[in-house]
Amino acid sequence: MNHTKEPWEARRDPSYYGLVSEVYAGDKFILSTGGVYSPSELEANTKRIVACVNACADVEDDRLSLGYVKGLEVENALLKAQLTWRPVSEKPEKDEMCTWQEDEDGLWHTDCHEIHQFFDGTPTENSYKFCPYCAKPLKEEKYNDQKE
Ligand SMILES: [Zn+2]
Repeated sequence: MNHTKEPWEARRDPSYYGLVSEVYAGDKFILSTGGVYSPSELEANTKRIVACVNACADVEDDRLSLGYVKGLEVENALLKAQLTWRPVSEKPEKDEMCTWQEDEDGLWHTDCHEIHQFFDGTPTENSYKFCPYCAKPLKEEKYNDQKE
């Protein structure tokens, strides 16, 4: 990275109608901007260059050209989604029942993502009226009933 160390700063150019069109890093002159006739657009462009350079301080140039900033936005959105994720058992649900589905091996798979095994019989035959994992009323679906 050979560019001038940040922070950069947008300044008025006294020799160019006092417009904000110069970029400095401390006392070091970096560049002057131009090319547009609107003073407000020239100022906005100059400030944007400075803001982008300062925001990307310490990021390698080749990473910037590979879409580093856009990648950060995507990564940030994924992290936010993970932070707001909650186990199903903690979410308020429309369905107030926890359905337990028996598999071919006699294991019971619950709506709340648990697996339960009885020594013998079904949840009802074992006097299970509520799911012990999520506390909702329990509804059972036997393996044989599912195939029909
Ligand atoms: Zn449950």
